[in-house]
Amino acid sequence: MNSKFKMFNKIDTVHGYCEECCEETIMVAIVSDFYRCVGCGFDLRQHINGSIKYLKLDESDKKWIKDNVNNG
Ligand SMILES: [Zn+2]
Repeated sequence: MNSKFKMFNKIDTVHGYCEECCEETIMVAIVSDFYRCVGCGFDLRQHINGSIKYLKLDESDKKWIKDNVNNG
């Protein structure tokens, strides 16, 4: 089931491979395309290229999150 207008979901969780944990884990969306591993708290960027991967953030990703997400 696909929802075309996926707006204001309360909590969006996915199941994926965390590069930090090196295992399958649950991730919570923090903003569109960026997820946080519930196992280690690491932030990861969703990368879709045929298959979905969750990549460690580079400096520009971290800056983007800092600028766009208010984590206090
Ligand atoms: Zn992890």
